[in-house]
Amino acid sequence: MNSNKAMNKLIWLNVAALICFVNCQMPTAAVTAPAEKRNEESITPSDSGNSSSRSSNRSVSSGDSTSAGGGPVIDLTHVLASGIPDFHGHPDAFQYKMLFTIAKDGFADGQISMPEHIGTHVDAPCHFSAGSPSIDEMPAANMVVPCVVIDVRDEARKNPDYCVTAEKISEFEKGGAIPEHSAVLLLTGWSDRWSDPAAYRNPDSAGVMHFPGFTTEAADYLANKRQVNYLGIDTLSLDPGNSKEYGVHHLTLKKGMHLIENLDALDKLPARGATLVCAPLRIKGGTGSPARVFAILP
Ligand SMILES: [Zn+2]
Repeated sequence: MNSNKAMNKLIWLNVAALICFVNCQMPTAAVTAPAEKRNEESITPSDSGNSSSRSSNRSVSSGDSTSAGGGPVIDLTHVLASGIPDFHGHPDAFQYKMLFTIAKDGFADGQISMPEHIGTHVDAPCHFSAGSPSIDEMPAANMVVPCVVIDVRDEARKNPDYCVTAEKISEFEKGGAIPEHSAVLLLTGWSDRWSDPAAYRNPDSAGVMHFPGFTTEAADYLANKRQVNYLGIDTLSLDPGNSKEYGVHHLTLKKGMHLIENLDALDKLPARGATLVCAPLRIKGGTGSPARVFAILP
């Protein structure tokens, strides 16, 4: 129960921060809806625009089409459940055990066990950079940022090892420069494979995974020329599946940035104009944490 309360408090705090952000951005907008009642409307899979390959782990009421004080809210978070894809290939990396039931105890309460880097999650700087900040030190003010989405689904469909280049980002910026302190999210289409962990990890016969990512030069451009806060992706890692060097992780985490992996539903976001809310758990000394991540459309 305590962990649920802590989670609710965290979400509440972030929603409060978000309301403040929206008010600051749009002084004329009335933001009056009580946050705890601002909840999701269920939609059918056919409404979602992501029909065929949705995971059975994905809750029907995961909240994809919601009216909030600002605009519609898109949930970018995969459901945590046994059997979801894991970077290391462990089939039961996430475990949930019921400890108390309403029938027997009058209330329900369960226990979770999982790695820090499972499901939709955030990497803290100390994940690759010794002595750098851990996830509990992530400033709440950094959890609400503008976001852009770069669509590389065509490239990834042709080449599972595709990595977005600095040139591709320059091409994207013909429509406007990427704002400082924003989140740059890469839409590869890989989340359609979520319900099939083997296809999502996509290992070859030698066990080397194949899924798209960022080149180190693209990450360098975004980190140092654009000063973005986050890079995010809808695969297991910002570095491509066949990476041995993890150059993107080293470069960005050393700079103090945060990375978001295993995002869902990026295809529902516009290329520009949405606001990202990213709320990892505040684990003392944690190298990362599962997070609730969602976007508010303009
Ligand atoms: Zn991670």
